[in-house]
Amino acid sequence: MLGFTILLFTISLESVSRISSACERRDTLYNIVPTTGAQVRFLRELNLKNETLDFWLLTSIIGHEVHVKVPAERNVRFLTELLSQGLNPLVASSNLSACTSGTPQKRAARYTTTESLDFTRRYLRYYEINRYIDYIGRKYPQIVTVNTIGSSFEKRPLRTVTITRNKSNKKAILIDAGIHGREWMAPASALYVIKQLVQNGDTNGDLLNNLTWIILPLVNPDGYEHSHTRDKLWRKNRHPFRRCTGTDGNRNFDFRWGEKGAARHECRQTYSGPKAFSEPETQAVRDLMLANNQIVKLYLTLHSYGRYLLYPWGYRKSLPKTWRLMDAVARAGSDAMKRSHNADYTVGGVGRILYEASGGSDDYALAVARIPIPIVMELPADEAGFHPAPEKIKPFVEEAFSGIRAMARKEKDDNRLVAWRCRNGM
Ligand SMILES: [Zn+2]
Repeated sequence: MLGFTILLFTISLESVSRISSACERRDTLYNIVPTTGAQVRFLRELNLKNETLDFWLLTSIIGHEVHVKVPAERNVRFLTELLSQGLNPLVASSNLSACTSGTPQKRAARYTTTESLDFTRRYLRYYEINRYIDYIGRKYPQIVTVNTIGSSFEKRPLRTVTITRNKSNKKAILIDAGIHGREWMAPASALYVIKQLVQNGDTNGDLLNNLTWIILPLVNPDGYEHSHTRDKLWRKNRHPFRRCTGTDGNRNFDFRWGEKGAARHECRQTYSGPKAFSEPETQAVRDLMLANNQIVKLYLTLHSYGRYLLYPWGYRKSLPKTWRLMDAVARAGSDAMKRSHNADYTVGGVGRILYEASGGSDDYALAVARIPIPIVMELPADEAGFHPAPEKIKPFVEEAFSGIRAMARKEKDDNRLVAWRCRNGM
């Protein structure tokens, strides 16, 4: 559970302020704990049908916190609806502004030192992530290959780091991060995995035995940059449409595209895009999966937040036949993080634990790319939600790596996968 500073709410008309611009808008973040199945269903429906509410954290588990940002003009109606359901929303944060605070960071000097690229102390910008990737590629050419696999809508190159001791390895792990711009912990965690594998070989050497790692630290650089410079809470990519901007990449994959939990309206946070794979970012991830699906056994897609390890299906509540394989790997991760950091991760199917969401990369990985173990990792947060305080980055990425290392080891040693691939003609 997150340590929000909770203030009991009172309905006051003064809290309803006018919107004059995005920067002056003052929204409220509510923390709600449903205690009945009916309340869980009500919140899920509210998420599906309402355009203006932004659910930061939504689960289908009774007793788990739900976090939702409510625009000022929607406040009174929202509270009235919740009270009528017997829910007791608490104000987690009021006067929430979407705008970034302070002045934008100055661009780093041309010859950035690697110390200044310490992503465990602060969130790097896109160009700094690239500098780190370049540095790793230059310094460790024996085991690291850097590739550009496409570019974003605004033409930022999408770059992968492949780490291997043997280019003919038959097993690989694919990790991507940051398909949602505002989820800053995700790219930081992906970079930390790279650092641990490449720069901390003494401790993690076994993770490179017969195993190749392909890591795409930032799927959505346009959304990430927009989140750093204009609107901290920006989730989608930056593809402009007639009324609003952005497609949700994690609703844009071509498996059960446009079904439940994916919005058809371009102004929604979960807009599925005009058609499946309409976006260059999702096309690049698709091509990366398909080019490597003969060797990729585990696909890990990093998101934030809430401490969940989830697997397909997302498009419906029921589980695939092979769910036990995924469950075993996810539980190895959650057990390890419990041991190392006393962290409580919830494990289960996306559609069951969170909510139904079609067109996600994990469903596509399993159903189309035939990657046997796709796992969505929802990283931790503090009271700042998507942007934990800089001093939290280090403990959070260390926790995540402890789980990722355990999942990799579990998968590496699990021969049941061989049987699964045989059964599926792979
Ligand atoms: Zn996400």
